[in-house]
Amino acid sequence: MSGLHVSALSHAFDAQEVVKGVSVFVGPGEFVCLLGPSGCGKTTLLRVAAGLENLQKGEVHIGEQLVASGKSGFNLPPEKRGVGLMFQDYALFPHLTVAQNILFGVKVKSQQQSWMEKALSQMDLTAYAHVYPHTLSGGQQQRVALLRAIAPQPGVLFLDEPFSGLDVTRRAETREQTLALLKETGVATLMVTHDPEEAMYMADRILVMDQGRMIQDGTPDDIYFRPNSAFVTDLFGAVNRLNGRVSQGTVKTPLGLFEAPQLPDGQAVQVLIRPDGIRLAELGGTPARYAGDAPCEPASQPGTGFQVVSARSLGRASRIIIRLADCEPPDGLIEIRVPGTFLPKTGSLVCATVNPGDAHIFKTE
Ligand code: ATP
Repeated sequence: MSGLHVSALSHAFDAQEVVKGVSVFVGPGEFVCLLGPSGCGKTTLLRVAAGLENLQKGEVHIGEQLVASGKSGFNLPPEKRGVGLMFQDYALFPHLTVAQNILFGVKVKSQQQSWMEKALSQMDLTAYAHVYPHTLSGGQQQRVALLRAIAPQPGVLFLDEPFSGLDVTRRAETREQTLALLKETGVATLMVTHDPEEAMYMADRILVMDQGRMIQDGTPDDIYFRPNSAFVTDLFGAVNRLNGRVSQGTVKTPLGLFEAPQLPDGQAVQVLIRPDGIRLAELGGTPARYAGDAPCEPASQPGTGFQVVSARSLGRASRIIIRLADCEPPDGLIEIRVPGTFLPKTGSLVCATVNPGDAHIFKTE
């Protein structure tokens, strides 16, 4: 056994349980993200696993070693757990140079000297090794803090929103460099984020939390393409919702017929479709212009003849609103995003198609 094992961890503040029986495993070299809305308990789980809060219920192992147990009340302090920590407010030591900051927690500094030189070069920091932190940009300070956290070769690295203070360009670059470095070191990493795109980009596995519970544990593809609930589907932004009822293993909607073989006949369901899960083609133009690769269906089929309410360019994509006559959702409006420029006239007719894999069907609560 190696990496991080958290078993059935529960934690309460003032009798209010904010983490409820959550188990987490992060294997060696694995990058796992805890993703969920503000207040769902991500940071608390991370802090308890790292030893910054005393464990109340459950167990934490790092490698083979039991580092905290709710039953016995045993809590090894963070500095004895062999973990690296990096939080949003990563304070570098102002009176130490960049190199001194990085090697601060390393016992035999000479042993990590050549690693540090290579890592500084990978992070574009070689020229700054002997300057003091206040002369660095935010992104550079963040990268120094990361190197400081991993220089002592921890078994597990805990990161809490480490990129949130950076602007968009620096964030993308710093994420890339961070990932490359962590993959080389082979450390097990658990990172908290509330940004689904960041989790998708960085994680080998994403653990989705809501109200103190683990909702789904899967690869980024599982979470995006095979969400297990409306909650997880909603994480990635606005979703179109159609109501329906299961009949002989299928659900009929204005946007097509979708299979739901696992649900009983008569079950009320919601069909959730993301704006980028719908393809559009103009009707009436000759030849038809297609946005996406789906052919236009015959006019009598579902998915045809919807009126365009608005169409606007977002630069790299176009956002089109269509109306489903006499149908839900509220106002019968459906949002669609297609790559590139596709701007049918307001009032014109389009047909819409949805791949079965883009329709996520859940029981209506
Ligand atoms: P965010 O993304 O906003 O940081 P989070 O998912 O990390 O949110 P936590 O910070 O773990 O959530 O907080 C979970 C709940 O516990 C919240 O309701 C928060 O107010 C509460 N909480 C966190 N720390 C404490 C504390 N030290 N004392 C009392 N309540 C706390």
